[in-house]
Amino acid sequence: MREFDYIIIGGGCAGLSLAYELEIHNKLKNKTLAIIEPREDYVRDKTWSFWKVHPHNFDDCVKKTWNNFSINIPKKTNFLECQDYPYQTIDSGLFYKKINKKLKENKNIFFFNNLNDIKVQNSFVFNSVSLSKNNTQNLWQHFCGVEIRTQNNSFDEKIFNLMDFDCDQRESVHFFYTLPYSKKEALVETTWLSKMNDNSKKDYDKQIRDYLEENLKLKNYEIKYREKGAIPLFFQSNKNQKNRIDIGTVGGMTRLSTGYTFLNIQQHSKYIRKNIENIKNTKKFKISKKYQFLDKIFLKVIEKHPEKMPDIFFKMFQTSPKTVIKFLSNNSNVLEDLKIVSKMPKWTFIKALFY
Ligand SMILES: Cc1cc2nc3c(=O)[nH]c(=O)nc-3n(C[C@H](O)[C@H](O)[C@H](O)COP(=O)(O)OP(=O)(O)OC[C@H]3O[C@@H](n4cnc5c(N)ncnc54)[C@H](O)[C@@H]3O)c2cc1C
Repeated sequence: MREFDYIIIGGGCAGLSLAYELEIHNKLKNKTLAIIEPREDYVRDKTWSFWKVHPHNFDDCVKKTWNNFSINIPKKTNFLECQDYPYQTIDSGLFYKKINKKLKENKNIFFFNNLNDIKVQNSFVFNSVSLSKNNTQNLWQHFCGVEIRTQNNSFDEKIFNLMDFDCDQRESVHFFYTLPYSKKEALVETTWLSKMNDNSKKDYDKQIRDYLEENLKLKNYEIKYREKGAIPLFFQSNKNQKNRIDIGTVGGMTRLSTGYTFLNIQQHSKYIRKNIENIKNTKKFKISKKYQFLDKIFLKVIEKHPEKMPDIFFKMFQTSPKTVIKFLSNNSNVLEDLKIVSKMPKWTFIKALFY
């Protein structure tokens, strides 16, 4: 069986981002790489959005960028600007196409469907596949979104809605998220922060239909695309192994309070590329401990007091949007952290420390 210098298990967002980062920086000129990915065809399956607090390699895969957004709870709306850190949406179809085209140019890169097809023992492995069973006891961000096209002009394409809590909460945290691509096209997503131990919140199609028709007052629309997903709001622990680094969601790249992962994956890829020559002895890349600590408390509050969360999110965005965006994108300084913390209901958060 063939051996390779590097193996990437999982050719999804993290695996392909890393392979691309290594390739464009000529790190695979004299090294061989095997990518293990079971899917036969790459089709658009996700819409990745984030505030652009760092440069990344995929500006040409951006479907739309916004400089304004809103957040609302019943009867209150806050309009905010994000010029300093625009919000971008990446079409995964364009991302897969761009990367696969580039990787196929290098004869040192090989694709396999199954890890059993190659010899692993002497390679350095980057793994993005979870070995743990589905966890129903922890919180997840689970969601379903549809891209719709309306007959009439229905959206203001200059402003996206980050969170609309004016909806059924079912003793959980629930909001809608709307990305208007044009006056007639938008992605509308129903999002829950909850455990996954029952199916009671998964009537996504009905939730979306009711929201489109009752809240957005849309009658004539066509569904062009649908995506569904669940992001674990906890760290999955694959066993630590010599000669292996976990990447992507499994590698702890999700910001647990928000589910944002894409830009952390890009930062992780850059870190690995910079250290690739000495990767066996390189310190693990992690989301900073202060965010892990704060997110842990935040998640406890979500679990204990879901009914308080719409107000908490709304209040958080009453700080300057730049500060909140930096905080949510792991890019804030201590002063900015304190500004965010000061907006939180103190007693609820102090009690959560001791649950
Ligand atoms: C629908 C959806 C939308 C999201 N939107 C956002 C967003 O807007 N912003 C954001 O920051 N984050 C978002 N996320 C979170 C995160 O960015 C994505 O989940 C991202 O794809 C994670 O990258 P990954 O490489 O860890 O996992 P994946 O992209 O899922 O890649 C894992 C790959 O492993 C392959 N695989 C599975 N089993 C095996 C096996 N046994 N052997 C080898 N390969 C295998 C899979 O086919 C897949 O290609 C979203 C997640 C989902 C599910």
